[in-house]
Amino acid sequence: MTEQTRQLTAEVISIGDEMTSGARLDTNTQWLSRRLGELGIKVSFHTTVADTLEQNIDVFRIAAERVDIIVSTGGLGPTRDDLTREALSKLVGKPLELNPSAMQHITQMFSRRKRDMPERNRVQAMFPSGSQQIFNPQGTAPGIDMVIPRQQTGDSRIFALPGVPAEMKRMFDETAAPRILKQKGPGTVIQQHVMKFFGTGESDMEHRLGPMIARDREPRVGITVSTATISLRITATGRDASDCQTQIEQTRAEIMDRVPEFYFGEGDSYEQYDAINETLMNREQNLMAIEYGHAAPLGNWFAKLGDTPSYRGGLSLANPQAMQDMFGGKTEQQALTNLKQKCNIDWLLVIDSYPALQHDALLPQPASDITLTVITPDAELLIKTETLGGHPDVLQPRIAKAGMAWLRAALAANP
Ligand code: ATP
Ligand code: MG
Repeated sequence: MTEQTRQLTAEVISIGDEMTSGARLDTNTQWLSRRLGELGIKVSFHTTVADTLEQNIDVFRIAAERVDIIVSTGGLGPTRDDLTREALSKLVGKPLELNPSAMQHITQMFSRRKRDMPERNRVQAMFPSGSQQIFNPQGTAPGIDMVIPRQQTGDSRIFALPGVPAEMKRMFDETAAPRILKQKGPGTVIQQHVMKFFGTGESDMEHRLGPMIARDREPRVGITVSTATISLRITATGRDASDCQTQIEQTRAEIMDRVPEFYFGEGDSYEQYDAINETLMNREQNLMAIEYGHAAPLGNWFAKLGDTPSYRGGLSLANPQAMQDMFGGKTEQQALTNLKQKCNIDWLLVIDSYPALQHDALLPQPASDITLTVITPDAELLIKTETLGGHPDVLQPRIAKAGMAWLRAALAANP
C-alpha cells in the first residue's frame, strides 16, 4: 500500500464534564462518526474527556500518535473551563495569537445581537500560532484546524469544533469535510443526496440493497432510521459537481430498482406529510385527520406545513364514541360520513390509538392490532389493520406514520 491509497484513520474526541459525569449523552460523537464514515474515513477511536487541561493535552497527544484525523467537540467557549485552545497550544509548543478576522466576527456577532462583548470573549479569537480558523456562522466560537507534526506516517491533523450540536454540524459539513476530502486526495468535491423510505425495517432494507451499502462502495450509501422512517444518504466524491451529480443519479436509479415500493421523497427534512401535501395540492383536494386516543402526532406534523389548502385540520378525540357524539350517526362510519359532507372534506384519515398505553409505560409494548382507515372522495372505505408494538415513546408516532403510508397507498390507487 502506498501512502496515497492508505485509508485515513480518525479519532473523535468529546470534551466536557457534562459527558464524563453522565449528565448529558455525547451525541456529537455518533453524528461525527457517521459523517466521517460517509467520507470514507475509518473511525478507530472514540474518547471522552473531562474539562481538565493536563488530561486534554494527554488525550490529544495520544490521538495524534495513532490517527491521521482528529475531530474534537467542546471546550471552545469563553470561560475558564474551556481549555481546548490552551491544550492545543501546549501540545505543539506554540503560543496563542490573536486572529484579527476571528476577533472581527465575534465583535460583529455581539453587535448584531445588540449586546456589549464581555472582555472574556476575546479569548475565543486566540489561536495556536500556525493554525487555521474554522468559520462558525452561527456562534462566537470559531473552530481550530491545526497540524500536529509526527515523525512517521505523515502529520496528524485536528479539527477542533464547538460542543453546541447545531454549530458543530454546520462547521463540519461546510468547512471540515471539504478540507478532509482534499487531504484524502483525488476527488475534491463532495455532494450528498438523501432519499426517504417508509414501510419496511432496516434489516430488510439492508438485505435488499445488498452490495450497495458496502463500506468501500463509491458513492457511499449510508442508512439511518428515525422512528421507522429510513433515510439513505448517497455521498459522492468527484472532480467537480457535475461528476458527483452523475454518480448520484446512477446510484439513485439503482436504489429505485431495488426498493421502489417504500420510496416517498428526497431530502434530509422531507417527510411523508410533505409528499401527501404535494399530491393533494396537485389534485386540488383536501384532507382531514382524526386521531383517536390522547396523542395527536399527525396534527403536529401537518402543522409544520403552515397554512396549506390541502389540510383542513385534524381532530383529536378520545374514541369513536366521541366521534358519534359530535357528528351524529348510529355508527362511527356514519359519523365520519356526516363530518366529511358537512365540512367538504375530500379525504379522511382515521388512526387508532395504541390500546391501553399507560402514561408511565417504560418497557416496549406488545404488538397489538391497530386500525387505519381512509375514506376516499367517492366515500369508499379503505381499512387496514397493522400489528404494531414497541417502545412507548415511539408507538403513537409509528402508528401515525403507518396511517400516512396507508393514505399514500390510497392516493396512488385512486389517481
Ligand atoms: P463550545 O466550544 O461550543 O463553547 P463548550 O464545551 O465550551 O462548547 P458547553 O457550554 O460546554 O460549551 O456546551 C455547549 C452545549 O453543547 C451544551 O448544551 C452541551 O451539553 C452541548 N454539548 C457539548 N458537547 C456535546 C456532545 N459531545 N454531545 C452533545 N451535546 C454536547
Ligand atoms: Mg464544555
